[in-house]
Formats: sequence, structure tokens, C-alpha cells
Amino acid sequence: MQSGFITNIQRFSIHDGPGIRTTVFLKGCNLRCYWCHNPETLDIRPQLQLFLDRCIGCGECFERCPQGGHIVVDGRREFHRDRCIGCGTCADTCYAQALVLVGEEKTVEEVVDVVLRDRPFYETSNGGVTLSGGEPLMQLDFSVAILERCREEGLHTAIETAANYAWSRVAAILSVTDLVMMDIKLIDPERHREATGVSNTRILENALRLGEQPQPLIVRTPIVPGVNDRAEDVAAIAEFVRGLPNLLYYELLPFHPLARGKYDSLDMPYRAVGLETPSKETMDALTDVALQFGIEARHA
Ligand code: SF4
Ligand code: SF4
Repeated sequence: MQSGFITNIQRFSIHDGPGIRTTVFLKGCNLRCYWCHNPETLDIRPQLQLFLDRCIGCGECFERCPQGGHIVVDGRREFHRDRCIGCGTCADTCYAQALVLVGEEKTVEEVVDVVLRDRPFYETSNGGVTLSGGEPLMQLDFSVAILERCREEGLHTAIETAANYAWSRVAAILSVTDLVMMDIKLIDPERHREATGVSNTRILENALRLGEQPQPLIVRTPIVPGVNDRAEDVAAIAEFVRGLPNLLYYELLPFHPLARGKYDSLDMPYRAVGLETPSKETMDALTDVALQFGIEARHA
């Protein structure tokens, strides 16, 4: 039975495509955007989150970890993440929920069983299922199998992707996808590499090909202060996307600083220190810039 790693199945989503949807968040991404809102999805493996302000000092985790991940040195607790294999034993026994395993292996049928629970809501709202992450293309076979099963059940299927993969992988998931929501963060290749850790050459090539497919395409840009919040940044993207024949609309999404706690819990450096959510006035002005290119544009 096909299986893969997910962080969450979110029911009653209204921001991940049309209608009421169930969004499946998959683990693993091959970009490293320094402001990422979902750092728990970057690594494909399960990871332990520590919220030690909740710890009641019961000592169970020290006893239960088979890897010696939790130890006491000179009267102080230490967590050795390099020893952790993500088995989840300590999280299961932590009554205080100071330890939480993020990421679990699920079969396709387990995921689809949850998705199908809300079928009546999809039917009345023209909703369906969305694969997000992380990056659905990273666990391609798992993602395709989920969407295939959902298609067999007559559900509308959508993906949220950065499309930083060979076209053959994009094409494989397209065969079972009704709507594509794709991120384009920057047009300038060097600045894209600085901000995300990867080149945008393949992303933009894939965007051009996606723009010619039968499925409607929504392009989205997370607006991050100092990265792409200047008028010329949005203008460059709007000029690019206006050449995509099947563009449904272009959407700007504001950065928010709410992920800080997740970075801390995973011992990951938080590199968006000091960044604030763009104001409504900024989002309005940037949307106006995009509208000047004759495309449908909006912001969240
Ligand atoms: S099991 Fe949880 S509450 Fe108990 S010592 Fe470990 S982290 Fe603290
Ligand atoms: S998840 Fe498993 S290996 Fe990791 S610290 Fe907890 S018990 Fe140890």
C-alpha cells in the first residue's frame, strides 16, 4: 500500500482553492525560503517539536527514548536532535504535550478516508481536495495516488506547488489535477536564489508550460518585506504572468511573522527577524500595480 509523510489534514479550508476543501499538508520541500510559514514541512522526515515551557518535569522522556535523545547533564536537560530518529515514543508519553512529533506516515487510503468525510460540503460548495505542504511534487507517487483516488470518487482536485521540478514530474501530477496554484516569488534569478536557495529558471519554464495546459492556473506571490514588496518586483511578475493563456488570476499573499514559535520548537534559526506583515495599504498598492497589466489580480 502506497504511503507517505504528512503533517496535517485540514478540513473545512476556504483559502486553498474554490469552495470548502480538505487540504493535505505533505512533508518535504526543495526550496528554503527564509520566511517560510510552514518550517515543519521542509524536511520530509518526522521531526520532534519541543515546547518546554509546558514541561512538568515528570522525567518520562529520559526513560523512554531508545536513542538517548533526552538526557540530563549537570542537572540540566539536553536534547540531542542528531540522535533522534523521529519514532515519536517520547511524544506519545509526554502527558504535558511538551513534546510533539510533527509528520506521520499515512497510507493513501487513510488520507482519502478523511478527505471523503466532507463530501457533502464539497458538493454544495464546489469544493474538493487540495495537496499542499511542503511541496506535493516531492512525494510524487504518493501525491498522484491520493489525487487519483479522489478523482475516482468524483472530487475536484487541486495542488499548491512551487513547481521546482523537472517537467516530467509536473506533468505526472497534472494528469490527476483540476486546478494548479503556483508560487512565483521573484523574476530576478539572483535575488530568487538569495531568497529561496534555488534558481528560478526551471520554475519559470514550468510556469510557461503550465500556462498552456487545459487546467486553470492561479499564480501567487507571498509579499515579503525587503524581498519583493517593491512595485517593480510585482510589476515584473505581473508582466510575466499576463502571457499565460490559462491564468485564472494573480494573487498576492502577505507575509506574517506567526511562525516564529515553530522555528524555535524545531531548533531552526528564524531568519525573518524583524519582518512585519505588509499593511493593507501596501497590499492594495501592489495589487493596483498588477492590475495595470490587464490581468485579474487580488490580495488576501
Ligand atoms: S515527558 Fe514531557 S513533561 Fe515529562 S519531562 Fe519529558 S518533556 Fe517534560
Ligand atoms: S522521537 Fe523517538 S528518538 Fe526522538 S527523542 Fe523522542 S523517543 Fe527519542
